[in-house]
Amino acid sequence: MGPLLEETIFRSKLPDIHIDNRRPLHEFCFERLAEFGDRPCLIDGSNGAVMSYTEVDLASRRAAAGLRRFGVGRGQVIMILLRNSPEFVLAFLGASRRGAVATTANPFYTPAEIHKQAVASGTRLIVTESCYVDKVRDFARERGVVVVCVDDPLPEGCRRFSELLEEEEKTEEEEEEIDPDDVVALPYSSGTTGLPKGVMLTHRSLITSVAQQVDGENPNLYFHSDDVLLCVLPLFHIYALNSVLLCGLRAGAAILLVRKFEISAVLELVQRFRVTVTPFVPPIVLEFVKSSLMDAYDLSSIRIVKSGAAPMGKELEDKFMAKLPNATLGQGYGMTEAGPVLSMCLAFAKEPFPVKSGACGTVVRNAELKIVDPDTGVALARNQRGEICIRGEQIMKGYLNDPEATRNTIDKEGWLHTGDVGFVDDDDEIFIVDRLKELIKYKGFQVAPAELEALLVAHPNVTDAAVVPMKDEAAGEIPVAFVVRSNGSQITEDELKQYVAKQVIFYKRIGKVFFVEAIPKAPTGKILRKDLRAKLI
Ligand code: AMP
Repeated sequence: MGPLLEETIFRSKLPDIHIDNRRPLHEFCFERLAEFGDRPCLIDGSNGAVMSYTEVDLASRRAAAGLRRFGVGRGQVIMILLRNSPEFVLAFLGASRRGAVATTANPFYTPAEIHKQAVASGTRLIVTESCYVDKVRDFARERGVVVVCVDDPLPEGCRRFSELLEEEEKTEEEEEEIDPDDVVALPYSSGTTGLPKGVMLTHRSLITSVAQQVDGENPNLYFHSDDVLLCVLPLFHIYALNSVLLCGLRAGAAILLVRKFEISAVLELVQRFRVTVTPFVPPIVLEFVKSSLMDAYDLSSIRIVKSGAAPMGKELEDKFMAKLPNATLGQGYGMTEAGPVLSMCLAFAKEPFPVKSGACGTVVRNAELKIVDPDTGVALARNQRGEICIRGEQIMKGYLNDPEATRNTIDKEGWLHTGDVGFVDDDDEIFIVDRLKELIKYKGFQVAPAELEALLVAHPNVTDAAVVPMKDEAAGEIPVAFVVRSNGSQITEDELKQYVAKQVIFYKRIGKVFFVEAIPKAPTGKILRKDLRAKLI
């Protein structure tokens, strides 16, 4: 091809498939219930209890009826504030059946962080565990929010989750009228700039994303019904919610729900339940590699290791895979707003495509990807670095109540701008090399600099502040702050660190404070983050 005709829109190597996405998400996930009904669906890693597909289907219908009884209307929001558990899955599927929306939040958040998300999302009901009830009690009382607790003893003022699942006297089932463009999941993400925002994922977008990963002609592309999927990544993040839970349900696989990452316990579960697929993030892989425990367990059942949410280097990849001779590794690339999966490895397909180390696969089917020059917006050819953009029915509908942020992220032609810098090589493989956006990723968790900057400038002894990522071996990145002290202030690094630490979840804590005379800014007032990042190298 001559240079003028050079290809600038990239598609999957696999042919597109027909995706029936004009229906409710739960219906799509349980479409093959007749076939999978007796198969194990959820395994509770904490006690080994198994629920079959039929049982999960029935319990999720009851959860939907229970949500109705508890006053959750169509289109209304429930917050799931839980560690991985069967109740998480039932609350999510119940919300889907009810035509309601589930916003998921990290249960380790501080009360203030939960409060912000609950207010912004318009949460009407919170499903949580007794140990977190104190974090939401005041908020719930003030706003008349129902708190549903999954365990005993039942804290005062809460309703029992089992009550939600109680069969009604007359179970004349009313199926909700669900529009495919109704929102079903509302995870929070800061996207390319600013504070965390509600990402509206619809029935249609999630069905499309799941189908792109597990449907079609390649039954071995990722999961099949004999698989046992390890779900140790938190379900409140879209990576596990979509690429483990929803994909697992669609494929008829068994999903092993693990509440907490603890190396020996996880290895024990892998051995005991003959886990075949382990979706991880690089910091977890690093912990495994550093520990000597892997050799003490039989891990021969693992056939696929997935990694995503943050970059993984070749050295780490090689060290880990040397311990798992029967497994193939595939990196994927996701972003909450993109539904989330943009690209994945085809190394597991029936006819595998070779995968280069460090690549995060090729673009998913039924989607288009392009690389644009961030300054001119011009689409670039192969091997040229620019901003990665994606288009397809899987991407978000937009940010909740934020049309401006939506317009700044999804352009008029429907392209979602990721804020990631990368290129597509001669074999269609995607490499991520940098990030234009503000986002910091601590072990795959999002840290929005704007949130920490707002806290810092609210301190009476601080005039200005900017937060940027600093490389860290264990976490990938940690947030560090450049701070301008107010006139005459002698506030110390430790004082500022503690001031922030009291208000945020552990991974948003500031690792280092650098006191400076001024924060470098463009004439528009935008912080020149690149200049600050350069100081850290
Ligand atoms: P989140 O919305 O929390 O999933 O974060 C999305 C961001 O994580 C992306 O926009 C990337 O910056 C980063 N990310 C996700 N997957 C990868 C990957 N495989 N390699 C490098 N960065 C990644």
